[in-house]
Amino acid sequence: MFDIAVIGGGVIGGTILRELTKYQLNVCVLESCDDVSMGQSKANSGIVHAGYDAKPNSLKAKFNVLGNKMMSAYASELGVKYKNNGSLVLAFSEEDLTVLEELKTRGETNGVERLSIIDRAELNRLEPNVSDNAVGALYAPTGGIICPYELTIASIGNAMDNGAKLYCNFEVASAKKLENGYEIISTDGNKVSAKIVINCAGINSGKVASIFGDDTLNIKGRKGEYILLDRESGDFVSHTLFCTPSKAGKGILVTQTVDGNILLGPTATEVENPAPVTTAQGLAFVVDKVKSMCKNPPLFNSITSFAGVRAYSDKGDFIIEKSAIAENLINVAGIESPGLTSAPAIAKFVAEEIVAKMTSLVKNEKFNGKRTPDYFFKNLSIEEKNELIKKDSTYGKIICRCEGITEGEIIRAVRENPKAMTIDAVKRRTRAGMGRCQGGFCQPHVAEIIAREHNIAYEKVQKGGKNSTLLVGKVK
Ligand SMILES: Cc1cc2nc3c(=O)[nH]c(=O)nc-3n(C[C@H](O)[C@H](O)[C@H](O)COP(=O)(O)OP(=O)(O)OC[C@H]3O[C@@H](n4cnc5c(N)ncnc54)[C@H](O)[C@@H]3O)c2cc1C
Repeated sequence: MFDIAVIGGGVIGGTILRELTKYQLNVCVLESCDDVSMGQSKANSGIVHAGYDAKPNSLKAKFNVLGNKMMSAYASELGVKYKNNGSLVLAFSEEDLTVLEELKTRGETNGVERLSIIDRAELNRLEPNVSDNAVGALYAPTGGIICPYELTIASIGNAMDNGAKLYCNFEVASAKKLENGYEIISTDGNKVSAKIVINCAGINSGKVASIFGDDTLNIKGRKGEYILLDRESGDFVSHTLFCTPSKAGKGILVTQTVDGNILLGPTATEVENPAPVTTAQGLAFVVDKVKSMCKNPPLFNSITSFAGVRAYSDKGDFIIEKSAIAENLINVAGIESPGLTSAPAIAKFVAEEIVAKMTSLVKNEKFNGKRTPDYFFKNLSIEEKNELIKKDSTYGKIICRCEGITEGEIIRAVRENPKAMTIDAVKRRTRAGMGRCQGGFCQPHVAEIIAREHNIAYEKVQKGGKNSTLLVGKVK
């Protein structure tokens, strides 16, 4: 029996899992998909928000500002790329400037440091491609960018290196109350038992709470659609540009990603069906908005589009508490934006303030929070590349030409915790297939490496998701 089972391998479940491995606890994470980071933590803006947006005294405000302060050190310990690029909220009218003043005051109340309102001339100096119609901006130098799935994969990988167990393809379907915890049963009939359960199931966290007898969570979905531009346009902006927010939310943004692409979006549409699919209408809305924010956006460099679904609660704030109804259940639900930013702070709070009151926390002296960063071969100097190839010749073979990813990096992704089992899982760990050709050249080679390393038939390798094989069988 596990001491604690975390349900949901997103950034919230992942950072909580890692935090728990700092103590002498036997912990696991149950994830319904074939890889971790498959919900909101896969498809979001990747912004480490400064913290001026959330209502003062809300959990969102508290954890956003704390998480923002923690993120640089957290990412560096795990070898995850993080860039403190700063953000700008653009104003296009006198009314917008009034809203920016309110945001600045709100941010200062929340504890955000160094906020300032800048004029057109300063804005032009910082971001020459901003539309001539912008009259000023709120500048937040503490804003940053990070890759959400890199952070999640690294957190769960590090937790596993410290003893945590990961069960993929484990969709929690029912639970049986035991004397000292729960037996948790998957749709396939697999069973795991744990004394404490932490519900981090994102859009499904309401349903998961109900499985344990707590019907109080009302979690809904709001879809966001994006367009991604090739790295060739990566210097179009360097800060994250937001519109002045309205009642509908933070609006469309234009930002560099930490991997050097440009990201445009997201829309905000209420959805009954949480399927993260893009629509012509949604993408056209993004294009129109971006054209009004920036001069000549390089839309011709679009390489893909995608969507994510925010899981929000009708309470208007994060829910982070021990269930008042189901014994030994902790709900960490309704974690919409700024949930990515808040994740390290939420994880610490859950362990130190909630779990600590339910079981005794004894430090795990063997905990090692460090994770070797990915080599990202293309970023090494020629001497470093030569040295690496001398040690391991698989680093001398480029598999993904667009992103310059070597066989060595793919082998590592397939072998290292949490092991990549599918082509998309390799892509999220290495960026093989994320470039201009979107995997057209490298996918068959990635599939070959997965088949060889996991000792499965080539035609059985999945792209990602159930029944997603690329091949139907052998012709010769
Ligand atoms: C469009 C969009 C833009 C955003 N932008 C930002 C941003 O820029 N900055 C920021 O700070 N935040 C942002 N967010 C918010 C951020 O993405 C979320 O707060 C964060 O990812 C929440 O993580 P999570 O682990 O709670 O949920 P998820 O990542 O959704 O993880 C839940 C996991 O639970 C699994 N699961 C579900 N049901 C079951 C079950 N029955 N059994 C087992 N497993 C199950 C799912 O497969 C999933 O992997 C954005 C979100 C969206 C959608």
